[in-house]
Amino acid sequence: MAYRLARCLAVLRDEVNARWPGRDKASDGWIGDPAHASRKSDHNPWVKDSNGVGVVRAYDFDSGHGGDTGIGLHIAEHVRTLGQRGHPALGNGSYVISARRIASPASGWSWRTYTGTNPHVNHTHISVSLTQSGYDATQGWGLSGGGPGPGPGTNPGGRPTIRRGSTGPAVAEVQRILNAWYPKLARLATDGVFGPATHARVVYMQQRAGLGADGIVGPLTWRKLLGG
Ligand SMILES: [Zn+2]
Repeated sequence: MAYRLARCLAVLRDEVNARWPGRDKASDGWIGDPAHASRKSDHNPWVKDSNGVGVVRAYDFDSGHGGDTGIGLHIAEHVRTLGQRGHPALGNGSYVISARRIASPASGWSWRTYTGTNPHVNHTHISVSLTQSGYDATQGWGLSGGGPGPGPGTNPGGRPTIRRGSTGPAVAEVQRILNAWYPKLARLATDGVFGPATHARVVYMQQRAGLGADGIVGPLTWRKLLGG
């Protein structure tokens, strides 16, 4: 059966690739794999265009490095905002799922908790409008053209992304929080040095929280740590 990707998603994909040329695409995808084919998914071309060609109306963007470098979060938040502003591709049938949250026209594009089996930590899923004028809209998404990457800027309060080898007050803050979270485990020195013990504790926390367990404290992990 003939099928193709919705035009608006090709535009979005090209903008994302232009903005983050070296990004990890391991969890990228659009056409349904066998697991998708057995159920109703926008990754399957069940909507037919005016020529009878099946249209895939969903795209998955890899979040990068276990889900915590911020690209997926950045795309999700950006698309959600465009939904609120009435981007033509984001009409009836569209939604965004990212990091256990879903936004759609039904909720006025505000985030709600997503309780599906896949938490969408490793990729951001975007479904677009059911109508051809929507899914084939060629209007830009405003993501290309450079500008700062999503790394440190998307962490709460402008905190840096930290990992093994990092030093400074943000590391000490994480060490204090982790000590408070896990009082029965060996206390971490709150010395602001991100060494092996702190790395192991961050990985432990990420595994228990269902985050990508990469030992990197980026947007998702910061949000989790600060939110309790
Ligand atoms: Zn998907």
